[in-house]
Amino acid sequence: MSEKIITGHGREGIEKLGTPGLEQIKGKMLIAHRDWLKHRLSPNDPAKADLSYFWSLLPKETREVFGNGILAGSFYDFRHMIRFDDAIVRVAGGDRAAILRGLGEYSAEHNIPKNAIIGSVHQFFDFSTKLHRQFQSYGSSEYRQMSERAGTMVYSGVESCHSPIFCASSVGFFRGALRLFGHADANVREISCTCLGGETCSFLMEWS
Ligand SMILES: [Zn+2]
Repeated sequence: MSEKIITGHGREGIEKLGTPGLEQIKGKMLIAHRDWLKHRLSPNDPAKADLSYFWSLLPKETREVFGNGILAGSFYDFRHMIRFDDAIVRVAGGDRAAILRGLGEYSAEHNIPKNAIIGSVHQFFDFSTKLHRQFQSYGSSEYRQMSERAGTMVYSGVESCHSPIFCASSVGFFRGALRLFGHADANVREISCTCLGGETCSFLMEWS
């Protein structure tokens, strides 16, 4: 049984790399994930982390794209993000789902501006769907408030490129966002996934 779950969210997900030039994500997401690895490898001085093994795991095409660094405001093909995350898991070692969740949480902490942490978390998630295109060049997102302490983020139009690797880090991103709003005990799970045949990738968030 657990084997099947691993298969569903396993390494074959890396093959869903999207269409070059069409499905892209913002550089600041890649930077956050890379920086998480720096902290993991060199907690006391992340700037001194040795990323040579990480880079060696990436295909030549990806290494060449980032030869001069990663620009926070530029868009990069989705494929690079999935390759980054897969390499990070291999370099960091340990529980795959926990690492991917950690990448998303770190990204939330560092990419959500402090001045966005106002009002209710429902307002934040609703507003974040309006910013969707600032982070991803494809698909659309919708936030549905389910109750006072629950909501669902729904992504659609991503069938051609979505990857379970990205979904796993997204769970972490929502957990991180909820923590910024003081909900450290939030429970986030993906209740529908395009990678597993669903029409959308939908994340149910519940907090107390
Ligand atoms: Zn999904």
